Amino acid sequence: MSSLSKKLDDIKLEDIMEKVHNYIEDEEQIRIIEKAYHFAFSKHNGQFRKSGEAYIYHPMNVALILTTIYADYETISAGLLHDVLEDCDCTPEEMEEEFGPVITKLVKGVTKLSNINFSTENEYLIDYYKKIIVGMSEDVRVIIVKLADRLHNMRTLWAIPEDRQKVKAHESLDIFAPIAHHLGIHKIKSELEDLSLRYLKPDVFYDIAEKLNKTKIERDRIVYDMQTEITDLLNEHHIPHEIKGRAKCIYSIYNKLDKGKKFSDIYDLLALRILVNTEQECYLTLGLIHSKFRPLPKRFKDYIAMPKPNMYQSLHTTIFGIDGYLFEIQIRTHEMDEVAENGIAAHWSYKENKGSNKNANLTSTTEQKLQFFKSIIDLSHDKMTSEEFVNSVKDEVLNNNIYCFTPKGDVMELPRGATPLDFAYKIHTRVGETTVGAIVNNNIVPLDYELKDNDIVKINTNKNSTPSKEWLNMVKCSTTKNKIRAFFTRSERDIYIERGKYSLEKELRKRKIVFSEFLQDENIKKICDTIKVDDLDDIYLSIGNGKATVNGVINIIYKEEEKTPPKVVKVTPKNKDADIIVSGIDKVKVNLANCCNPVYGDEIVGYITRGNGITVHRIHCHNLEMLEERTVDVSWNDNTDKRYLTCILVHTIDNVNHVLDIIQTISSMNVNVDGIKMISHGDTSTYEVNCYVTGIDQLNKMSVNLLKNKFIEKIERAMR
Ligand code: MN
Repeated sequence: MSSLSKKLDDIKLEDIMEKVHNYIEDEEQIRIIEKAYHFAFSKHNGQFRKSGEAYIYHPMNVALILTTIYADYETISAGLLHDVLEDCDCTPEEMEEEFGPVITKLVKGVTKLSNINFSTENEYLIDYYKKIIVGMSEDVRVIIVKLADRLHNMRTLWAIPEDRQKVKAHESLDIFAPIAHHLGIHKIKSELEDLSLRYLKPDVFYDIAEKLNKTKIERDRIVYDMQTEITDLLNEHHIPHEIKGRAKCIYSIYNKLDKGKKFSDIYDLLALRILVNTEQECYLTLGLIHSKFRPLPKRFKDYIAMPKPNMYQSLHTTIFGIDGYLFEIQIRTHEMDEVAENGIAAHWSYKENKGSNKNANLTSTTEQKLQFFKSIIDLSHDKMTSEEFVNSVKDEVLNNNIYCFTPKGDVMELPRGATPLDFAYKIHTRVGETTVGAIVNNNIVPLDYELKDNDIVKINTNKNSTPSKEWLNMVKCSTTKNKIRAFFTRSERDIYIERGKYSLEKELRKRKIVFSEFLQDENIKKICDTIKVDDLDDIYLSIGNGKATVNGVINIIYKEEEKTPPKVVKVTPKNKDADIIVSGIDKVKVNLANCCNPVYGDEIVGYITRGNGITVHRIHCHNLEMLEERTVDVSWNDNTDKRYLTCILVHTIDNVNHVLDIIQTISSMNVNVDGIKMISHGDTSTYEVNCYVTGIDQLNKMSVNLLKNKFIEKIERAMR
């Protein structure tokens, strides 16, 4: 051991193995980690880092960092070996011989990422970003090793020249910290941020650190007192718990100061985290705390019911605590805490070591997690220059994201500035292409509306609708733009095939029929024979262009089974009071247009207004500009016994006052007249009659009865 290394991170293999034993039991796996250490040790023998220590301490520290986020044995081994291919006399073949293909592939991935010639010149940097990000999406463990590598390099950054320090710090802040954030690895993210700030803006960093230090004793006392109060409160109600004071990261304080807040105003300086055993206890604890301490309005967030896309779950609230101090309080279970700190890595440790059914929702959150990778992969498939690619990734994937929700509570991550169209395309291209309107937090919004964090977005579609070129100016994401452009370059046949495929898949999913099973060769043949087409694409085409129906096609194969359990289709009226049902939407503001006054039974169509819900018109109303994107399918609710105000024009053959006669005829039919006035008077007259009818049937009968009066020449419905 070199004498210089003593003052440095002087760790031993035992330190790593002690951590490993905490969560890895498999002896073979442990043996491989040890073997990786010895292999790396012999390969790096005689090498030293710029800081003066023996080189092996670097991969050892990387491995140690990996154990703190519960990385698996292959990741830890790759961490130990990560610089061996690069810096030592070792070939991939030799490594594969010793450690097999998986670990070797991880090391190769890390090497590939490290192998880029750094330069502040744009092109290199850009290429570097791209490779990091795309490389990452092949196996996430590559980037986790890279993050640990970068973290240790940042910890030892003092050893390199100042200008290089700043370059590294910038990269860490711009690329690595956001990636750690997206993987939910808070531990690594916050340390990277603090270290970066220390080198980028040392004066700010030390200023904040000093302020924190100065106020530390006072803050510690208040936090301690508050902690005692909460402990008493929870003990009283027999809720087992653990309370942690939270160390605030200097970087997040800097960020808030940078946004113009005063040091003394930053709430989360006083922060507590309460850990309990169950989700239910989280809410119980919240209730108890709110009943004792007044919450600050609008600061409560429920990330348990609606987890962040990086899997983070917790309740957040800010309360007026003791002595009027504001406390930011986080309440979560121990498991949620582990996920919050260790992100995707915690997911592995739960999955592999603690039994999988214990925390089933972690599995589904991994899917949300994948959104991040999916976005990047989507982007990398798009035809873009490297520069566009990197800007898109930075702009749309890594930074400034907002989280919006589907009405079912699924989270969609979008760049700031995204519109409902971006949201729709993100759900599915098909949804995007057939979008006709959007409802955000129960209000109809235009398609170029700028979505905000936590918006609940419902997309209305119409299966016959298609994108408009104007949309290109109404979207934020380049992926959306590309998808819209692609639509216009596709042939009509392609579009129909795609539509048909989408409809078929959707219906099969609905009926819980496995897609691949349905599309067995013999089934395809049977369908082709029946509907007289040649191949699968033709089947899609027939569905897409309406020559065959989805159910017709499915029934060719599944007819027999269809009959057996008679499906009880429950039709629940969405809302008893509503007289209009807007397809697929509950509780939307609906008005009957007062230009054409539709009544029950009329053929109608909904028109999406700007900011005033849906207005229902008669289908032939001349006011209805048939802008397809702005209309929506609506139908009458059969359950109401409501009466509808309508307006008819009664033309008479003379100029005698017939008001009373008309009222009499109408009233005799049990129709209420709301008003009648003569609107033209000459040789003949016209009366405008407003009255309430139960529907089109009654209105028709009323017309027939009126026409029995000889003085009436004709009746028409008013259309203004
Ligand atoms: Mn390294």
